[in-house]
Amino acid sequence: MTVKLPIYMDHHATTPVDPRVLEAMMPYFTRAFGNAASRSHVFGWEAEAAVDEARSQVAAGMNAQPREIVFTSGATESDNMAILGVARAYREKGRHVVTAVSEHTAVLDPCHVLEREGFEVTFLYPDRTGAIEAEQVRESLRDDTILVTLMLANNEIGTILPLGEIGAACRERGVLFHTDAVQGFGKVPFDVEAMNVDLASVTAHKLYGPKGIGALYVRARKPRVRLEPILHGGGHERGLRSGTLNVPGIVGFGKAVEISIAGRDDEARRLRLLRRRLSDGILGEVPDVSLNGPPLPEIGPDGSLAPGALEPRLPGNLNLAFAGVEGEALLMGLKDVAVSSGSACTSATLRPSHVLKAIGVPDDLAHASIRFGLGRSNTEEEVDFAVGAVAVTVRRLRELTPSYGSAREGTATGSGR
Ligand code: PLP
Repeated sequence: MTVKLPIYMDHHATTPVDPRVLEAMMPYFTRAFGNAASRSHVFGWEAEAAVDEARSQVAAGMNAQPREIVFTSGATESDNMAILGVARAYREKGRHVVTAVSEHTAVLDPCHVLEREGFEVTFLYPDRTGAIEAEQVRESLRDDTILVTLMLANNEIGTILPLGEIGAACRERGVLFHTDAVQGFGKVPFDVEAMNVDLASVTAHKLYGPKGIGALYVRARKPRVRLEPILHGGGHERGLRSGTLNVPGIVGFGKAVEISIAGRDDEARRLRLLRRRLSDGILGEVPDVSLNGPPLPEIGPDGSLAPGALEPRLPGNLNLAFAGVEGEALLMGLKDVAVSSGSACTSATLRPSHVLKAIGVPDDLAHASIRFGLGRSNTEEEVDFAVGAVAVTVRRLRELTPSYGSAREGTATGSGR
């Protein structure tokens, strides 16, 4: 079977829109174009009904109630709204917030804004796999802590945090718990009730929906979360987020969530098998490669985890460091395989990834690291092609790197860091 080039293996950055999602969206651009806030005619009612259905689909995907879903322009907005909105609403109660250095910049930057507004933020450090344990969170909580914000799954190394335990620790102390669930939603189990999550940011374009549409889950009861809005205007979304609703985007988001949740466990098994093939292939052909992030789990022949085993990292995530190679040169050399050196924004600045730094990867190896993000379109043939392309490119680049010989001395082959 021939492989169609180029191959897309950067599904943490974004995903293509599923054709079923596009089909669901289409009528809402043209025939059913009404404003969902128009109460006086059928155009508005039709749009509102479509938004209601999508709200239920997004809510069902995380075991929330439809009225707890606030539509936004994406997860950057959701993260800002949750962090700034909670802090400003509860500032009389306390001025301390807890997060981690390995979070996405859409979480870290609003936390820095809060510092400038007089709040104190504790930045927890993950272990070498990227994990933050509930005990660390418990120890960081103070009488004036109002919010903990920690992600479901890391966008670079895929680490899945024990949200159930972290949520329980927050609930015990009456501290609100926000999670950036962007990378894990629709890929791994996520349940706001079971995990005691009070606010959650999600976005459609990471799960085969359109770009520019996301949501914030805001718990309505036990406890009812208060938020100071960041966008003011017509009072849409129960006054929490003003602005005419993006009806086609919302419809697409709902459909994308429904499809992802229905196929989630089968797709996770398939991706674990593909990732194992990619990892075994590269480690078998290329010396001096180390794994960034959690070890890959033991899996059965169909890609299942052992009974009772926890998923350590996103099923489609692999992050490898190629000693003696400049990551950017490797990315350029891999013309036919679209991968990245970290989050899309970090790639643009050429700074070593703050996530790899946080888990103790030295700068030279952080610069030599590549993130593979496998997704729905990828096949075994594509994985085999990628293995060959990586092997050839790394070999060629190392031949051009006189210092590689000395780098070899200090690096273990295929060690799982
Ligand atoms: N949070 C995480 C963990 C992400 O990976 C991304 C994606 O880039 C975002 C937030 C931002 O999401 P959006 O592109 O919807 O603003």
